[in-house]
Amino acid sequence: MTNNSLISSPFLPLFTILTYLLISISCELNPWPPSIPIHIQSSPIAPRLHNDLSSLETASLDYGNLVHEPPLSVLRPSSIDDLIALVRISNNCSSPFPISVRGHGHSVRGQAMAPGGVVVDISALAKGGEGVRVSRDPVLGFHYADVGGGEVWMDVLRHCTEEHGLAPVSWTDYLYLTVGGTLSNGGISGQSFLHGPQISNVLEMDVVTGKGELITCSHEMNSELFFAVLGGLGQFGIIVRARIVLEKAPTRAKWMKMIYNDFSKFTRDQEHLISIKGASYVEGSLLTDKSPPNNWRSSSFYSSSHQSKIGTLLKNNQGLLYSIELVKYYDDLTANNIDQEIEMIIENLSFVDGFIFKRDVTFMDFLARVGNLDKPEAEPVAHPWLNLFVPRSKVAEFNTGVLMNIIGKHNQTTGPILFYPFNKNKWDDRMSAVTPDENIFYTLGLLHTCEPHELGYFEDQNNEIIKFCEEAGIEIKQYLPHYKSRRDWMKHFGKKWKTFEERKMKFDPRMILSRGQNIFNHVTYSEI
Ligand code: FAD
Repeated sequence: MTNNSLISSPFLPLFTILTYLLISISCELNPWPPSIPIHIQSSPIAPRLHNDLSSLETASLDYGNLVHEPPLSVLRPSSIDDLIALVRISNNCSSPFPISVRGHGHSVRGQAMAPGGVVVDISALAKGGEGVRVSRDPVLGFHYADVGGGEVWMDVLRHCTEEHGLAPVSWTDYLYLTVGGTLSNGGISGQSFLHGPQISNVLEMDVVTGKGELITCSHEMNSELFFAVLGGLGQFGIIVRARIVLEKAPTRAKWMKMIYNDFSKFTRDQEHLISIKGASYVEGSLLTDKSPPNNWRSSSFYSSSHQSKIGTLLKNNQGLLYSIELVKYYDDLTANNIDQEIEMIIENLSFVDGFIFKRDVTFMDFLARVGNLDKPEAEPVAHPWLNLFVPRSKVAEFNTGVLMNIIGKHNQTTGPILFYPFNKNKWDDRMSAVTPDENIFYTLGLLHTCEPHELGYFEDQNNEIIKFCEEAGIEIKQYLPHYKSRRDWMKHFGKKWKTFEERKMKFDPRMILSRGQNIFNHVTYSEI
């Protein structure tokens, strides 16, 4: 059942109890839910399928807490062979059952769920740092890491840095996300302007396709599958290994935040910073009373005196300010010149006089700055997030229509409000990920946290933003997209739709994988 107002419904407890009672009764008589095909029950993977209430409950929730769709069963694989077996069993059914891989369930709208099917808990294959193998290409001389699809980026970082003095170059802000999960979307953060998103830094993958074949792919080998899977929303195969580019890890980071009260200066300086050599990381955000300077629940960049100084400026600027976050990495070899280099990078920036704040931290502390948000909140909350890509040519209209007149005026948005640019030439358009057709585009991340009774308000605001962009002719693309109709998906993919559809037919023709994304579910074979 997909129901965006479910968490606020007074019938939720009753509905949940009834569902579980029904499942419990059927499990008591027969440990297998009735719709699980009989030949899965006698297959070698049967001992790894879990039908207990706690497993089903976990697989029916995600970070968003907006969608609640229990699967029939959860597979905790002990090997890649288990995944191959599961996909083949589904393929052999006259009516195949859906299969979704759950990374860490950090999707917000049920994308990793499999109603009426099997959720694969791929974390069962993760081995922490031991699941990361670092090697050096003997011909080209660079290093790379082979990483399981279910490993979390935090473990990849720890292993590569602590054991080898190396690190991937492109990150997400939050590191408790899985390699397979972020590569299925893009994987963006303040390093993307320089190195591209995480999908631009993959050399090779092992993928179990929707036909149950294990295929190694790269730019040169089975390249169509490689490009399909990167940013492919889990539609074409299960990523079981990814080979990630590594570089020498810096040891420290000069970490700065600069405050702006003028949008055009804020965007001009961000675009300057992503066009020159020097910065290692550039992100921007909006500050409001509800989205304060230390905006992640677990992070603390500013001291309390800095916060009150910014608070006063905020009051004098109608409650809306902008912030650029800039980082320059360094190590012992570059330490002598680092302050001079930073002066050169920031010399012509137009932030409000006196509003630059600096910290000097380890590389590890900077990358792990968001902390671990996976601990449950005291009260149930929802995360009706909206992430958009906005073409550069329209940011002025977007600022007036969305940032000022919707977000700023209503002043209800809680949590971080990110707004920062990318260079399109760092993205590979052969991949499935979709971005606006301009050399520079921005991301808006509205990372709301709300109580159940506020959900309607935030959903309305998200819809108002999308409607405004449609009416103003601003061709936004959603990141971590969510659409309800095939027409909207076709519009999202634009000229890539045909290829996306053809690749689906080639690699998952029975439409088994990742139905939680809701892309091909409503399509019959004859429609394709
Ligand atoms: P899941 O949510 O479990 O899965 C996502 C999708 O990928 C599903 O369709 C699933 O079926 C599929 N999938 C998962 N694993 C595999 C696999 N091995 N093979 C094939 N398909 C697979 N994103 C950014 O880009 N940058 C950020 O800075 C960022 N910060 C975040 C901070 C927080 C607190 C949260 C909750 C999310 C953030 N995200 C960010 C979004 C994140 O990238 C997505 O949630 C993404 O889905 C990864 O989460 P996950 O590993 O839990 O994957």
